[in-house]
Amino acid sequence: MQSADIVIIGGAIMGSSLAWFLKHERQFKGRVIVIERDLNFTRASTTLSAASIRQQFSTRENIALSQFGLQFIKSLRERFGGEADVGFDEGGYCILAQNEGLPVLEKNIKLQREMGADIILMDPSTLKKRYPWMNTDDLAGAGVGLSGEGWFDAHMLLDLFRKGAKHAGAEYLNDDVVGIKTQNDHVTAVTLASGEEIACASLVNAAGAWSGSVSRLAGITLPVEPRKRTVFVIHCRTPVPDMPLLVDTSGVWVRPEGDYFISGASPKHGQSDPRPDHSDFEPEYEQFENIVWPSLYERIPAFEAIKMNSAWAGHYEMCLLDHNAIIGPHPDITNFHFMTGFSGHGLQHAPGVAETLSRFLVDGSWGPLDPSLFGYERIRDNKPVFELNVI
Ligand SMILES: Cc1cc2nc3c(=O)[nH]c(=O)nc-3n(C[C@H](O)[C@H](O)[C@H](O)COP(=O)(O)OP(=O)(O)OC[C@H]3O[C@@H](n4cnc5c(N)ncnc54)[C@H](O)[C@@H]3O)c2cc1C
Repeated sequence: MQSADIVIIGGAIMGSSLAWFLKHERQFKGRVIVIERDLNFTRASTTLSAASIRQQFSTRENIALSQFGLQFIKSLRERFGGEADVGFDEGGYCILAQNEGLPVLEKNIKLQREMGADIILMDPSTLKKRYPWMNTDDLAGAGVGLSGEGWFDAHMLLDLFRKGAKHAGAEYLNDDVVGIKTQNDHVTAVTLASGEEIACASLVNAAGAWSGSVSRLAGITLPVEPRKRTVFVIHCRTPVPDMPLLVDTSGVWVRPEGDYFISGASPKHGQSDPRPDHSDFEPEYEQFENIVWPSLYERIPAFEAIKMNSAWAGHYEMCLLDHNAIIGPHPDITNFHFMTGFSGHGLQHAPGVAETLSRFLVDGSWGPLDPSLFGYERIRDNKPVFELNVI
């Protein structure tokens, strides 16, 4: 039987960033094996995401993780050398609010600014001057990111981490984890679909939308389930200059992507958000006609004559308790670690989470990005830490 010091289940952005931080940044001498069943990442949220980064969160820890992610993206050449680049476009976010949403927006912006984020509260008339193409009639204000927010290429970031991790000595195994062996509240090994077993001193669950099922293999209940999100690729003949990633009061978001725009919708509070089958990646085309297009047209009249060119769907790894991540060890099975539940904002948080979890795995302390608030204990004790800005 092979054995490893650390086995990571899932080799997309979480698993690969952790492997890179362990082997490259921490210079961890032990054996790190990443087990990934699909090295093309065709169904990974990482490669199906909208790949955007913002500082406009309501939870202090999430803002700090985004700030780390931002600095990381800006320092890729120093970290990876040569021409390392993920095409970061600092186009900003603009989160709109009507009267009833204004107090929460104001509270969030106060916290973001306290933490040094370059976000301002903009009143509707200033908003109209900045974005003349926007219908601001029903708005009370907006959170506008003047810098430090935008979008990038998720494939490129994953590639940098994966190649860098391999180069630094992490091993990748193309297989499916189908069993987890435990003894006296301790993970001892994982079983693979090929029949092989790998003994491990520590295990990390970085299996994204599948991490609930992976946890069950060790007898652990984890309220992380897939939730389908469709992204529509849109063409608009009329120019809409300087568009940020706009989050409408309807829950619909839109941002530029080259000569096109991409857009999608988050269910508003109280709307149904059914659990899809793990194999269901069919775009919800009717969402475009019923929700996305009417909301976009209402907010941006130039979008009257848009054409939907294509669409894709991915799965959020939704933490049903509070839409926040679960990071760190299980309180009883202490060598089983979570790195999951990011509920739609994990790509931008991967570098920060990998930095802090790699420290914890190597020397048992979290360092400055302490994510203890996101520990499994809150799941066990049913004490949610709600993130209000889930898009
Ligand atoms: C439509 C959409 C838009 C998004 N937009 C953004 C955004 O703008 N900004 C942002 O920050 N985040 C965004 N996200 C969220 C972000 O993509 C995820 O939080 C992040 O990619 C999660 O990374 P992961 O590595 O944990 O999971 P994944 O990328 O899903 O990877 C999990 C991997 O685990 C593997 N795996 C699972 N089970 C097993 C097993 N048993 N054995 C072996 N391998 C296994 C899978 O094959 C997969 O490759 C979006 C997500 C979606 C779906």
